[in-house]
Amino acid sequence: MSEQNVILRTEHVSKYFGALKATDDVNLSIYEGEVHAVIGPNGGGKSTLLRVILGLLEPQEGTVRLLGRSPRESVQRVGYVPQETGRNREFPVSVEDVVLMGRFSGTAARWTPTAEDRRVAEESMERLGILDLRRKRVGELSQGQRQRVAIARALAVRPALMLLDEPTASVDVQTQAALYEILRELNRTLTIVMVSHDLTAIASCATSVACVNRRLFYHDRAELTGEMVQAAYGSCPVELIAHGIPHRVLHRHENGGEKEGEDHA
Ligand code: ADP
Ligand code: MG
Repeated sequence: MSEQNVILRTEHVSKYFGALKATDDVNLSIYEGEVHAVIGPNGGGKSTLLRVILGLLEPQEGTVRLLGRSPRESVQRVGYVPQETGRNREFPVSVEDVVLMGRFSGTAARWTPTAEDRRVAEESMERLGILDLRRKRVGELSQGQRQRVAIARALAVRPALMLLDEPTASVDVQTQAALYEILRELNRTLTIVMVSHDLTAIASCATSVACVNRRLFYHDRAELTGEMVQAAYGSCPVELIAHGIPHRVLHRHENGGEKEGEDHA
């Protein structure tokens, strides 16, 4: 694919926390129109990588180009759905307030939403199917509804790229399926990068996959081998790879008859 279609590129990005190297020499290219899934074990540096991409953390080494510019210059055009921590659930704000926050650039000393801001927020809630919840306090919502609110807020940014950090963690299977359906719909107008553990669901919408465990084990849309996934997951068993994973991920299992995939075919 040509250079101009690269929407996000990291080059030799390393991020340390003291002696801990959370992200090690990561080179990643994401192309316009992709649904890119980042998989890997807990503590593997996936959230750190997203935060470096967004310019929320400065890497000690390497560079990030986001929409052709520095993260700082581009972050306003990126929607971010952070990993749900379960904190601040009781914060007394309505669904509409949260979604409107997506319209706030963060630079104004005082900010009052314009009619256009309200319209964009409403459109975002509509697309996520939460317009009828607009007056509810976010604390009253289910986990799945809260994820929709978080995605609607990111969408209200009018992003060219959306980064989602484990958007389907701790929601039931039906809600997961609904969220992936929403992501597929959003992908008609924007590029998506998401961290996920849900390999089965990734199969239904990812166009490319990267395995991240501190370092990046990545094949740009080519086959990912069982060994690469195994390496990325470290001690995690490859049984994590469930039935229905994209062909490229199971390629070696299917053709090589390696033992990891067989129980799950
Ligand atoms: P993942 O999202 O893949 O689970 P994280 O990026 O959250 O992994 O964390 C990677 C490693 O970096 C972990 O060992 C974590 O404890 C550490 N880490 C993450 N953020 C910080 C921070 N702000 N300060 C110190 N250590 C951190
Ligand atoms: Mg994380």
